[in-house]
Amino acid sequence: MARYTGPVCKLCRREGEKLFLKGARCLSEKCSVSRRAYPPGQHGKDAQFKRGRGSDYALQLREKQKARRVYGVLERQFRRYFREALRRPGLTGSNLLCLLETRLDNVVYRLGWADSRNHARQLVQHGHISVNGRRTNVPSYLVRPGDEITVREESRSRKYFKELRSYIDDRPPAPEWLSMDLGTMTGTISRDPERRDIDLPMNEQLIVEYYSR
Ligand code: SF4
Repeated sequence: MARYTGPVCKLCRREGEKLFLKGARCLSEKCSVSRRAYPPGQHGKDAQFKRGRGSDYALQLREKQKARRVYGVLERQFRRYFREALRRPGLTGSNLLCLLETRLDNVVYRLGWADSRNHARQLVQHGHISVNGRRTNVPSYLVRPGDEITVREESRSRKYFKELRSYIDDRPPAPEWLSMDLGTMTGTISRDPERRDIDLPMNEQLIVEYYSR
């Protein structure tokens, strides 16, 4: 599946907030949002004064773009997630975020095995992760309750995974809907994620309004 390969700090600057797309760098002084707090591009500095005065459409568009960028999903696939969220019972906006949370790359990130979703995506694509004992290299794979996510036996002896055990405690803890056994590098999906489990400052209702125009 295609993905965005351009500069990611630009995306944060465009949204005017930190989207944490680069792992440790996002917490350092090098973060572009802190250093250049205005949108990218030739007229970025002028545009910063207009921020917050956008039309309803502009607000809806920005919220949708933000969600896409956080999860690293392109438009066509994001639309597919939206259609699936619409089909499911309950609030469409919450369904959409919960669906995105169950992507395999996001789960690897939430377990603390990667320092960003991009990095998690790479670990999955390089075949280091298996789901229920089967090697899975599809980052968009949707996990379900009861699924077991493991770092493959062959990969555990790699330097990265050996060292990971020593600093994983410095990363945010796994959310309630996931449980992890660090000894065997196994994560289990205890239940479906709920909106309250997702710590993203996002107004998903605006995304619903965007697609309902
Ligand atoms: Fe965004 Fe991280 Fe780049 Fe800062 S360092 S602009 S949070 S991707």
